[in-house]
Amino acid sequence: MTAPQPLIAGNWKMNGLAASLDEARAVAAGVAGSAARVAICPPATLIHRMSEALAGTTVLVGGQDGHAEASGAFTGDVAAEQLADAGAKLVILGHSERRAGYRETDALVAAKVKAALRAGLEPIVCVGETIDERKAGRALEVVTGQVRGSLPAELAGTTFSVAYEPVWAIGTGLTPTTPEIEEVHRAIRATLVEKFGEAGKSVPILYGGSVKPANAAEILHADEVGGALVGGASLKAADFLGIIRAL
Ligand code: PEP
Repeated sequence: MTAPQPLIAGNWKMNGLAASLDEARAVAAGVAGSAARVAICPPATLIHRMSEALAGTTVLVGGQDGHAEASGAFTGDVAAEQLADAGAKLVILGHSERRAGYRETDALVAAKVKAALRAGLEPIVCVGETIDERKAGRALEVVTGQVRGSLPAELAGTTFSVAYEPVWAIGTGLTPTTPEIEEVHRAIRATLVEKFGEAGKSVPILYGGSVKPANAAEILHADEVGGALVGGASLKAADFLGIIRAL
């Protein structure tokens, strides 16, 4: 089985105005020849404009969340179909900021994944333990439990990825050691194979949490790391390109 092409995705979170599209254009101009698939997930307000700005380039545009329903009375929410209609090709689901801030459960994340597939979007499903869970020796149990609960059977035969993002490493400058990352990624791989059989071997498992140009090469070359989900360092093209080029 050939290894899947690595995916490096930028999560802009609630950052970015029209002027920020120049950063996305600079990323697109700088990625030529990269071994990775590259995506930027801006806030919903920029998806359409970024899709137009990046048309004809290899950089994909994604959403950061998508509602499980296709339409309806859900003030402030955005449906997967609307993300796709605006030009998104991928969507981040189950990010810890949504699990913690909006009480998203594994079951809700799984429903959102099904909605993403219905809309033709490629899901990036996030999992990760809190610092208390890690200190209690429960990191593997928590993460593999999230993989089991957040990935619906409908993903079989589709293109998707899982992002391991330790909650305590997001936006903190802290990162797990390489052996710690590899231990969790191997456990995720085993769970993917348990769930999807042979096909589970080719699902990219991204690492996310304080990835920056200085630590990207070591992380991206670790065992079972199939790319990165990058928050803060994806906001500036120079930093994001530094990570992409570390592959
Ligand atoms: C994220 O929120 O997905 C993330 C990885 O953030 P940061 O890179 O800023 O830690």
